[in-house]
Amino acid sequence: MVQITQQTAILNKYLDLDQRGNVLAEYVWIDSEGNTRSKCKTLAKKPSSVDDLPEWNFDGSSTGQAPGHDSDVYLRPAAFYPDPFRRGDNIIVLAECWNNDGTPNKFNHRHECAKLMKAHEGEKTWFGIEQEYTLFDEYDQVYAWPKGGFPAPQGPYYCGVGTGKVFARDIVEAHYRACLYSGINISGINAEVMPSQWEFQVGPCEGIKMGDELWMARYLLSKVAEEFGAKISFHPKPLAGDWNGAGCHTNVSTELMRKEGGMKYIEEAISKLAKRHKEHLLLYGSDNELRLTGRHETASMEAFSSGVANRGASVRIPRSVAKEGFGYFEDRRPASNIDPYLVTGIMIETICGSIPDADMSKEFARESN
Ligand code: ADP
Ligand code: MN
Ligand code: MN
Ligand code: MN
Repeated sequence: MVQITQQTAILNKYLDLDQRGNVLAEYVWIDSEGNTRSKCKTLAKKPSSVDDLPEWNFDGSSTGQAPGHDSDVYLRPAAFYPDPFRRGDNIIVLAECWNNDGTPNKFNHRHECAKLMKAHEGEKTWFGIEQEYTLFDEYDQVYAWPKGGFPAPQGPYYCGVGTGKVFARDIVEAHYRACLYSGINISGINAEVMPSQWEFQVGPCEGIKMGDELWMARYLLSKVAEEFGAKISFHPKPLAGDWNGAGCHTNVSTELMRKEGGMKYIEEAISKLAKRHKEHLLLYGSDNELRLTGRHETASMEAFSSGVANRGASVRIPRSVAKEGFGYFEDRRPASNIDPYLVTGIMIETICGSIPDADMSKEFARESN
């Protein structure tokens, strides 16, 4: 755990220096392991749209994204947000990765997803993703767990209040504010069943914004945790045994589902999902089989199931939605380590229809080419 030292006061003297009108733009991208990486560029003035932002590049051979003999990977700005760490006019830029030959990098799933989102703009699809994650300390022990031992079994920790029942609230609060500052549509937070496991929700977000804002919220989380000397794990089963896994429940609605009589469209979507269970699971995160066991509030991987208020089903219709007859549904299968572009992309493809120039089911195989 970190301590405030005199060094902090010395550092602040420099951070307060006038930037003389320059803007610091932190370019963030997704690497081959599903982590965010970033580097910073000085801009002479504040951009007014994403088109004002220059394309940039990085050494893809250092991130597993390109071979050494052709190592340049290009960063094409996709969106930008106020920077809660540097503040002022400084920004964070979310960038897509492109290869030298003009093709999207094999870990760039945003490009394919965006085509589907654009084609189905008229359906006004909203997403809400519940990102669960686990905190570790700098020595890779679960954050604030007893040294060399285990805390008492699960029970008191979910939404826990009080000493011994909740850990890392400071990091979580800091992240929440950082998201709000950056304009991320973070809709809430809660402590999870396993101690030092938390959840934040982003949404509802329309179309491609879901993936963009979830990736940005993950970046902010890793960076806030870095300041506190903690590590963030998005692994779906970070600890073997009787400890809950971590997921990314994905809530979905089209405009038709949100209106009176919407239940008909929700049921239609669920029957389409049932037919593509295997294709969806391929894009729903790695090591998900360790989590989707049919225990710890999950459905088994083998067969698709759905139900009202059923937390043991693949897809759940919230009780309130069933009562009103319209609203949204929740896909409980996605793991905490998903790429949200893959999940929202195939969701749109399945429920709104495929398009000739995109195929989400091929996106996963592209990674290993
Ligand atoms: P749970 O009860 O499963 O824990 P949460 O409250 O954690 O659900 O998360 C629900 C998520 O669903 C939130 O991100 C919320 O913004 C999102 N959401 C709410 N309404 C809709 C909707 N009509 N369409 C899509 N997402 C929605
Ligand atoms: Mn939730
Ligand atoms: Mn949860
Ligand atoms: Mn949920």
